[in-house]
Amino acid sequence: MFIELLDLLRCVNAHEDTWLVASFKTVSNRFVLDGTLGCPTCSAKYPITTGVADFTAGADLPPRKTGEWAATLEREEVATRAGAFLDVTEPGATVVLGGSWASAAQELSLMTGARVLSLNPESGVEESETVGLLLVGSEIPVAPGSVLGVALDASFPAGIVASAVKAVRAGGRIVGPTAIPPPSELTVLARDEDYWVARKAPEVIKLSRAGR
Ligand SMILES: [Zn+2]
Repeated sequence: MFIELLDLLRCVNAHEDTWLVASFKTVSNRFVLDGTLGCPTCSAKYPITTGVADFTAGADLPPRKTGEWAATLEREEVATRAGAFLDVTEPGATVVLGGSWASAAQELSLMTGARVLSLNPESGVEESETVGLLLVGSEIPVAPGSVLGVALDASFPAGIVASAVKAVRAGGRIVGPTAIPPPSELTVLARDEDYWVARKAPEVIKLSRAGR
């Protein structure tokens, strides 16, 4: 995990948003290869092993689905779809890609300049200064409203969509599998037999009226 990406990560337990305190065992060229992220509020510990941060807290990972369309497509094409679905047009923004979407993490980051957190990536996805690899259960370990978009596949438990809604900023987008229904607070923009694309409500800016 590149050291600057650690700032994006938060404890997944239910309490006030807190930074994690990192202790490093092995660091190479500002990449943390082995270490621990500790929560100062609830004392939870999240290990980083060979560069991958583990937020599962010992729970089993969701089983990997095989035969999904993303596995059969070129990574560039998956990246193009993810970029379009999530409307990634802002260099430096943070995007979360899960499961089969995560296979396109490097390509999406190169194409858009976005930082990408890859949840439960398939083998062969490399980390970089802009791509972090994470293992998660049903919680996405980022601050509320801190990411531009989240794309998930059917390998995740349904509960993760609530976490995605929290993680995405106002007006941001979520891509989810048809196996998990989109939450009612989202506006569904498009859907096909595999995925839906939805938007979180944009922030309402109140304009003051002069003369009243
Ligand atoms: Zn905590």
